[in-house]
Amino acid sequence: MPLNYRPPPPTGTRKPVRESIWSIGAELGSPSTSNADIEVNGRVVRPDAPVDLIDPWWATTVRLDPDQPPPPVIAPPIPANPLIHGVAKCRWCGGPFYRVHAQPPQWLCLTQACADRQVLNAIPRIVPALYDDESTLSLDSPWLFLPLPLNVDIADSPFKRTLLAGAAGSSKSFGARWMAYRECLKRPGIRVLLMRQTYDELAKNHTNFMPAEAQQLQTFGHGTVRFTSGNYKALLFGNGAALLTGYCANDADVSKHLGADWDLIIIEEAVNLPTKAITDIPTRDRASPTARALGAMDGKTWLLSNPGGQSMLTISDFYITKNPSVEDYPSYDPEIHGYIPATLEDNPYLAEDFATKNLSGLSAARYAQLRHGDWTVFTGQFFDFDPTVHVAVIPGVA
Ligand SMILES: [Zn+2]
Repeated sequence: MPLNYRPPPPTGTRKPVRESIWSIGAELGSPSTSNADIEVNGRVVRPDAPVDLIDPWWATTVRLDPDQPPPPVIAPPIPANPLIHGVAKCRWCGGPFYRVHAQPPQWLCLTQACADRQVLNAIPRIVPALYDDESTLSLDSPWLFLPLPLNVDIADSPFKRTLLAGAAGSSKSFGARWMAYRECLKRPGIRVLLMRQTYDELAKNHTNFMPAEAQQLQTFGHGTVRFTSGNYKALLFGNGAALLTGYCANDADVSKHLGADWDLIIIEEAVNLPTKAITDIPTRDRASPTARALGAMDGKTWLLSNPGGQSMLTISDFYITKNPSVEDYPSYDPEIHGYIPATLEDNPYLAEDFATKNLSGLSAARYAQLRHGDWTVFTGQFFDFDPTVHVAVIPGVA
């Protein structure tokens, strides 16, 4: 399949949303207000470096329209009166986020260097957004996916195996799926395995969205992207990369995932999977044969999770305290395991009152886990002891 396949223009009366759809693209190469260096494709460059030095991954893998400015590689200038999120805070600089686009709503850090780094890790619309005269669809963003700093951090993790864990609602699942798409678009031939505990959870949280997202990627210039719904629900990319999905509800399921090598294994809500899955499946992150043939040397694993669940202790031992039982895990290597804590404040896509509105009513322990990502609190260690309820009087026993 050619890498630079471009979908035919849609039928019907369509036209660009507006002539200035690439107005942000016109900022290409314009000086940034920040002096901080940024890293692109392994190279450290100045934010105001010429575009041809920055060389984003898509510049060499898709066909750009010579009549259109390419998608932006740095963030637009900070507006005079930005719409600021009242709760979310950038994990890189501690500053606030502002809404850079309304349709769809997208958020950038108010610090230019951070915003530039978000943009460098985005999946752009290669072809301009279109609108149908008969619909109200209006897309003013040049990005299909604009990652949050949290999403960039896991993709850039220096560890072979990384736990991204913390509060509920910190954009772990959605962000990880799209960062996985980005890996597939960037790296021909790779194999990504995306896992949940059950088929039902996989459907509700991931595979239900994948057909539409495949369509979006294809429509906006990222080559052929096809969703398959056979035994394996998967996204197949025109460059030979593939994102396959799987589930692992019990120990018997684990062996099904030990027969192949992967470039990236993503285990979502990892605490709910059997402990054997947490310890054994990541051992297959050794680079797939297809990617190895193209020069890949190794694979990675991302665990995403809130605290709580059957494998919480093992995950904590492996990734947070890095102190699992030597008898049980004699070959454990702390150097390849790392932990990125996530908080609600990482996610400006949540309503400002999310914590009070959506998490109220939880027990103290569960609230500590889901609001603050507290891995030291175990549900079950808190309960109100009432002797009239919890003490049984057994006849004949003094
Ligand atoms: Zn920032």
